[in-house]
Amino acid sequence: MSQNNTVHFVSLGCPKNLVDTEIMLGSLMKEGYSVVDQPEQADTVIINTCGFIEESKKESIDKVLEMAQLKTKGQLQKLVVAGCLTQRYKEDLVEGLPEADLFVGSGEFQNIAGILKSSREGSTEKKFFHLPTYLQEETSPRVNSQPGYRAYLKISEGCKKRCAFCAIPLIRGNLQSRKLKNILSEAQLLVAGGVKELIIISHDFTDFGWDLKKRDPEATESPYELLKTLADESGAEWIRVLYLYPDGVTPELVELIRSRKNLVKYFDMPLQHINNEMLKKMNRRMTREQVERVIQNIRSQIPEAVIRTQFIVGFPGETEEHFQELLEFVARNRFDRVGCFMYSQEEGTKAGHLPDQVDEATKQRRHDQLMELQRQISAESQSKMVGQILPVLVEGLSEETELLLQGRNSQQAPEIDGVTYINAGQAQVGQIVPVRITGHHDYDLVGEIVE
Ligand code: SF4
Repeated sequence: MSQNNTVHFVSLGCPKNLVDTEIMLGSLMKEGYSVVDQPEQADTVIINTCGFIEESKKESIDKVLEMAQLKTKGQLQKLVVAGCLTQRYKEDLVEGLPEADLFVGSGEFQNIAGILKSSREGSTEKKFFHLPTYLQEETSPRVNSQPGYRAYLKISEGCKKRCAFCAIPLIRGNLQSRKLKNILSEAQLLVAGGVKELIIISHDFTDFGWDLKKRDPEATESPYELLKTLADESGAEWIRVLYLYPDGVTPELVELIRSRKNLVKYFDMPLQHINNEMLKKMNRRMTREQVERVIQNIRSQIPEAVIRTQFIVGFPGETEEHFQELLEFVARNRFDRVGCFMYSQEEGTKAGHLPDQVDEATKQRRHDQLMELQRQISAESQSKMVGQILPVLVEGLSEETELLLQGRNSQQAPEIDGVTYINAGQAQVGQIVPVRITGHHDYDLVGEIVE
């Protein structure tokens, strides 16, 4: 049976959404709520939804319907649907989900404590959809939901680019960057609390500060300044940057990453496609030749750099030739990590109205073909790691067997990449230890701690 002031969170979607969840958690805990692991023990369930593509929308709605069953059974008092799906579909969602009590968009999640309080006091207002203008401060209440040795650091909201397939600007609005000193203070606080790995997140790291500079040409915020300041002043042992638009990966930025030991040599650079016609239709601002120059720069400046990228297959008008060009590009460039999305036709986006939409079976075939190619490339590049000694952040016992420890070397990002299993040696959770790689799977590594 649930008690008063107990809340259970479900956070769906990307790490940016997770940070919003952490701020809601912090606000509610400040108001005396206790957070429970099981929804059955809670009187309030908050689902922070994702509304990016068809698959994530479906996952969000399924979760709301699943939690709604607890309400039917009388176990739950309030069901709150927050986040991107709410922000995107507003009234339609309210109409379609009568099971939910409150709808809190991406511009209102920071007020969750007040919203719940009014609702409990009898307010009948159930929709909160203001434009997302909120930017967290270093003083914002936030509970790090990650293991204590790592944390996400959100540096901006929204995006200034307009890729034709992407619904993010519709949901999250235009770019709003946080002040550099505010981000640094938050980073220092996290490190003082035991965080060793900071993972910088935004929709596009390379535009950081553009909006601030537009308002005030004296503003010092830029991707370079941010990374340099965090590397030199945060105290973090590993700093990882996610989501780099390739045109902002300048030789200066690459040199900075090369020169600082705590900047992880990991370039997460979604390319989406490589055929010039596709890139243009996608409203990407680069040609194949320009993209290749960026890759060449990274590899010549930092030969050991890991490059992760992501592609979309089945974008409207993608022919077999376009796809073959993409396959050939992937085969030639041998990226360390590749993610692949099947194009999702999204209303409100430019590509949603394009002719020549590709059928689902073709998308699936192209997806599978690309990922099979990447599996072979990955296995081969993993085999080259055998014999190397890499620093590994120990994360605990293996999920596969308690006989092994499990961790990540600096080339493995949490939740998206593989892991490193440790089959010899002892270490504490959160320790960074040298591990000699002795074996590999397609995506994971195996090694032993070097005493
Ligand atoms: S840069 Fe990323 S978030 Fe921005 S519009 Fe393009 S795909 Fe969307």
